[in-house]
Amino acid sequence: MTAEVLSTKDLQKVAPVFGQLSFDNHEQIVFCNDKETGLKAIIGIHDTTLGPALGGTRMYQYNSEWEALNDVLRLSRGMSFKSAITGLNLGGGKAVIIGDAKTQKTPELMLKFGEFVHSLSGRYITAEDVGMTTADMDLVRTVTPYVTGISEDKGGAGNPSPITAYGVFMGMKAAAKYKFGSDDLENRVIYVEGIGNVGEALVEHLSNEGAKVMISDINQARLEEVRDKYSVEIYGGSNLHAEEMDIYAPCAMGATVNDISIPQLKAKVIAGAANNQLAEENKHGMLLRKRGIVYAPDFLINAGGIINVYAELENYGRQEIIRKTENIYNTTLEILTNAEKNNVTTHAAALAIAQSRIDARKTKKA
Ligand code: NAD
Repeated sequence: MTAEVLSTKDLQKVAPVFGQLSFDNHEQIVFCNDKETGLKAIIGIHDTTLGPALGGTRMYQYNSEWEALNDVLRLSRGMSFKSAITGLNLGGGKAVIIGDAKTQKTPELMLKFGEFVHSLSGRYITAEDVGMTTADMDLVRTVTPYVTGISEDKGGAGNPSPITAYGVFMGMKAAAKYKFGSDDLENRVIYVEGIGNVGEALVEHLSNEGAKVMISDINQARLEEVRDKYSVEIYGGSNLHAEEMDIYAPCAMGATVNDISIPQLKAKVIAGAANNQLAEENKHGMLLRKRGIVYAPDFLINAGGIINVYAELENYGRQEIIRKTENIYNTTLEILTNAEKNNVTTHAAALAIAQSRIDARKTKKA
């Protein structure tokens, strides 16, 4: 097969990688391709000022390679800020594998992916994200040490999702304290959108606290399973965002807070696990602020998972994981208060703190 040579004119029609809307001076973007296993992956390394770029691998059936690139750019950038604001010595990275995790994920494909991770000599350390399990990470561990989220019986910290959910629960309580004057979630109407690994664990905390939980997911079997385990209801309507509720918890994919959903939203607080909940962070952060909806920044409150996997690198135990995760409550409250004081969006307030930590380290290194 011959590779087609495009004219300069044709090449100019193709959107350049460095010109992507989500490109934010990422240090390195690695395209991984393997014909034998069908692996098509992109590793994004956003910033390594604070340490190696750590972030999970997402396997997803993207509509196009551009969509996958855009996702990895947004996600890896988010990881830089997540680690920075949480006080971890980690940079931001993420990987995406293009494909259906249910039908296209094979051991050979995962091993090949692990080899690509290894080729970066530790600049990028992987973990699980959507479409991945601890078993996948155990497999990757056989070809590279640059992987976290390993199962406990193999010496890892195990599945990070329950800790992520606990951190989201802490952040949600802080946002409730800020908005309603009490962090007690009893009888609060809370919609959880996406009841996967994190969503289900969050539902458990909320139902233990006596909240009125409504769940929604595209997977009907999963909805019934979770409903039968906890005292929660399945949302049967078609436009969750327009429902009366106290808290909206996005726990599926990103960008659900957007031009369409914001004008309809009746929630007073948004606090969930999904990464990149705001489709456009400045514009949509501002729109939420104008509408008086308190937004608990996603990268701040969903940091439990990274705290959990960081334990594998730093050798701290369960107690320290819980302590760091519970601290999300204090940081969230502080940031919501600061945002109001400084007349900025909560997202911008959180970002500024994260960026200042990165900048301070850069100055120290210089
Ligand atoms: P998951 O794959 O286990 O669960 C996602 C769930 O969302 C699935 O049940 C899926 O059916 C559902 N879903 C997909 N599209 C949907 C839609 N349009 N409407 C409703 N439901 C939909 O993933 P997870 O590990 O629970 O992660 C959830 C989110 O939290 C992701 O955005 C992930 O990046 C983020 N996150 C996860 C962790 C972690 O520790 N797992 C850490 C930080 C952030």
